[in-house]
This record gives sequence, structure tokens and C-alpha cells, in this order.
Amino acid sequence: MPELPEVETVRTGLAPVMEGQVIARATVNRPDLRWPFPERMAERLTGARIDRLRRRSKYILADLDRGETLLIHLGMSGRMTVSGDPLGRFVHDHPMPEKHDHVVFDMENGARVTFNDPRRFGAMDLLPTLEADSHPLLASIGPEPLGNAFNEGYFLAAVKPRRTPIKTALLDQKLVAGLGNIYVCEALFRAGIAPTRRADRISTPRLAALVPIIRDVLTEAIAAGGSSLKDYRQADGELGYFQHNFDVYGREGEPCRTPGCATAIRRVVQSGRSSFYCPQCQR
Ligand SMILES: [Zn+2]
Repeated sequence: MPELPEVETVRTGLAPVMEGQVIARATVNRPDLRWPFPERMAERLTGARIDRLRRRSKYILADLDRGETLLIHLGMSGRMTVSGDPLGRFVHDHPMPEKHDHVVFDMENGARVTFNDPRRFGAMDLLPTLEADSHPLLASIGPEPLGNAFNEGYFLAAVKPRRTPIKTALLDQKLVAGLGNIYVCEALFRAGIAPTRRADRISTPRLAALVPIIRDVLTEAIAAGGSSLKDYRQADGELGYFQHNFDVYGREGEPCRTPGCATAIRRVVQSGRSSFYCPQCQR
């Protein structure tokens, strides 16, 4: 499931072919994904210029010159592919249409952006740009972890009273936007905090240290995603899924990477999701 860095990588990959460009033709091949598409979506998108392509949490928002904003959510398995890019960043031709190509944007500049989603947990919606932030999906989302509102004062006030495991608190999208299972596991490893530790029982300095650590973990992943974009010239134009070297995520039974530790990484299930941690380094 794509988390904030993956979505940001998709946005970065789409921006050069979509931002400031007119959608010559939007093709919508089915009535719905997770929810029904908005009325006449293809017509409302065709001919519109995308003034700005931005991200809020795990949503990509395309502000159109018609006062509407296209909201895109990749869901569990959604993929964005770019082909026929006139600038040559993506040199491959348009591929044959595939079974789960649900929405296709043919840009006036010749690029084609295809949204493919086999499991159809993704979503697209059109909303008035002025009301975008109050859309039901966005209204209750907490501050962006890389923005100024996510700071030590805010974080301590929001987390310190919580009697839930710290991992549960960090996954709460009302507390902070866009964090998911992978990057929460990685941040807690770097902070030396066990994912099962109750938030209200973690000392203030240890909690406060999480703020820059979360920023670092995400910034590094976004950088890895950005450098992966260069490889798409040789690859298939698919954006957003990149190889990243995780310290604990997905490494159950493998040795901890802390120098001098080498304890086997452990996996526990919390609220139905796997947490990976080093029982020696994380308390
Ligand atoms: Zn360790």
C-alpha cells in the first residue's frame, strides 16, 4: 500500500507531463472504483488545464482551470504509468491497453497517463477547488509531517495524553497525515521505542525526538523515490514503487543493523497489522 513517500514520488513523476498542461481527452472505462466516479467525469476533465498538481496526505490533487479539483487516491494497488512523454523522460511508446486500465488521460503534449488498479480500492473525485480542504476525505486529516504545523509542541500535546500503543497513535491520520505501517516501524526503530510502548509512558525527550526522526525517514524515502524516477526511462513508466532499504520493515528473523546488536528482528501483530522491531534496541 503506497504511503506518503510513494504518493509524493508519483506526484513528482506526473508533474512534468501534467502540470500546466491540457487534458486533450480523458477516458473513463468503468463507472466506479472504490466509490462511483462523479457524474460525467470524462467530459468535465476533457479540455481542462491542470494548473497545479499537489499532494495532501496520500491524495494527489490536480487543480483545474475550471474551478474544480481532481482528487486521486491510489488505494491498495493503484498504479500510475506515463508513456509517450514528449520531453523524453519516458521514452517508451503507449503500451497496449491492459485489463485494469480504468482511467486514461491523453495530454495535449502527447503524454498519456494511465491509472491501473486491479483491486479497485483507489478513488477519484471532482470537487470545487475552494472546498477541497473540507472534502470528507481530507477534512479531518492532521498536519503534514513535513510541514511547519508538525512540530515538537504540537506533537507532544497530541501524543503525550494517549494511552494507546505509540504505533497506534502514529497511524492515526488525525494526528499526522500520510504515515503508514512501513514508515512508522522505521521511525520507531530509529527512535529506539518499542511499537507496543504506551504513548503516555514514553518520556518527553524520547517522544520529542520522534519529530525530526519521522521527518528524516520520510525525506530519505522521498529522495529514494526521486532517484528511482530516473530509472523509469529504461523501465515501463510506472511511478511510485521503488526499492528502498528498510531497517526493520519486512525483516523478521534477520539480524538488527545496529552496530554490535544483531538481535533477530521480531514481528508482532498490532490491530491486525504487522509491526517489525528489534527487542534489544527498542524499549
Ligand atoms: Zn537491535
